[in-house]
Amino acid sequence: MIPYGKQFLDAEDIQAVVDVLKSDWLTTGPKVAEFEKALAAFTGTKEAVAVSNGTAALHAAVYAAGIGPGDEVIVTPMSFAASANCAVFQGATPVFADVREEDLLIDPGKVERAITGKTKAIIAVDYAGLPCDYDSLTALARARGLVLIADACHAVGGAYKGRPVGSLADLSTFSFHPVKNMTTGEGGAITTDNEEYARRMRMFRSHGVTVDFRQRMESHSWFYEMVDLGWNYRITDFQCALGITQLKKLPGWITRRNEIAARYDAAFLPLAPVVRPVHPSSLILHPASVHGRHLYVIRVPAARRAEIFGALRKQGIGVNVHYIPIHLHPFYRRRFGTGPGLCPAAERAYEELISLPMYPAMTDGEVAAVIGGVRHALGG
Ligand SMILES: *Cc1c(COP(=O)(O)O)cnc(C)c1O
Repeated sequence: MIPYGKQFLDAEDIQAVVDVLKSDWLTTGPKVAEFEKALAAFTGTKEAVAVSNGTAALHAAVYAAGIGPGDEVIVTPMSFAASANCAVFQGATPVFADVREEDLLIDPGKVERAITGKTKAIIAVDYAGLPCDYDSLTALARARGLVLIADACHAVGGAYKGRPVGSLADLSTFSFHPVKNMTTGEGGAITTDNEEYARRMRMFRSHGVTVDFRQRMESHSWFYEMVDLGWNYRITDFQCALGITQLKKLPGWITRRNEIAARYDAAFLPLAPVVRPVHPSSLILHPASVHGRHLYVIRVPAARRAEIFGALRKQGIGVNVHYIPIHLHPFYRRRFGTGPGLCPAAERAYEELISLPMYPAMTDGEVAAVIGGVRHALGG
C-alpha cells in the first residue's frame, strides 16, 4: 500500500531523540525552548509556543485571543473538525463561512457577510497547504477589530507573497502528527508576534500555573499559583529534539513535495474534465508564494467518486477524502443546527474530492504508480 502521507526520519533524528532520553530532562527542559526558538526563527516571528498536538495549539490560540461564551468565531467548513472544535472548547459558537470554488480556501467575502456584533475571531485553514488570501483576511480583521488565527497545520514550510507561513496572522497553529509536513510523533505549536499571547499560552499549556517546574528548580522556590483554568498540553523534550532536526530538513521536503505535485499536474491536467487537480501549480499566481503541499487533492465527478476511490484502493493506492465539511458532522448538526445547504461550495467539493499519496520519501516509481493507477481507475 502506498499511503496518502508518511513521515521521514533519518539517523540524525533518531540520535537526537536517544540523546535526550539519556539526559536529565525528559519533559519541559532545554529542548522545548530550543525548538521554540528555531521555529520562531524559521517562521520569522517573535514567539513560538510548543504544545502536545495541533488541537491543543488551536485551543491555546483561541484562549489567548480571549474568546469565551457568547462569542462567535468564523471558520471554514473545509477542514478537520478540530479547526472549529477549538471555539466550542471555549464555549464560543462557530459560524461557518463557505470556501471559494476555485481553491477551497475560506472566502473573504463570505467571512465579511458572516460578521455580527458577537464575532471575535476568524480561523482560516491553509487547505492542502495553500496559504489563504491573507491580504483580504488581514484587512477585514483590522477593519472590524477581529483576531485572525491561521490554522496552518497543512502549510508549515510554505510562504505567501514572500512571507513565511506562521507569520501571516495574529496567531498561527501547527500540528506535527506523522502525516503532516514534519513530525514530533504527536505535537503542535503556535507562532505569534504578540508576547502577551505567548505568555498566556505558556501558562495555559501547563494548568494555568504561573511558573513551570524547571523555573522553580532554578529559582530554588516551591511557590506557584494557578491564575486561570489551564490544561496539561505540554510536549516532551525528546519530541522537541525531533522537531529541531526535522525542521532543518523541512525546506528540502517542501521542494520535493512541489516536484511531485508538478508531476501529478502534468499527468492529470490532460484528463479534464473527469480529473481536476484542486490546486494545479498554475493556481499559485504570486512568484514568491510557496504551496506547503501537505495534500494533493483531485476532484472527479461525484457520480464516479466511489468507483474511482475503490479502484485506487484495490490497486494498493492509499487514497483518502479531505474533508467531510465540519458543519455536516452529527455533533454540529445537533449542537448548532447546521446541515446541508449552509456551505454549498464545500458540500459540492466534498462529493468529488480524492486525496492522492503525497510525502517527500515517495520515489519517482511510486509517483508513476499512482499516475498509472488513476488512469487505470478511470478505465483507460
Ligand atoms: C492535523 C490537523 C489538526 C489537528 O492536529 P492534531 O495534531 O492531530 O491534533 C488541526 N487542523 C488541521 C487543518 C489539521 O490538518
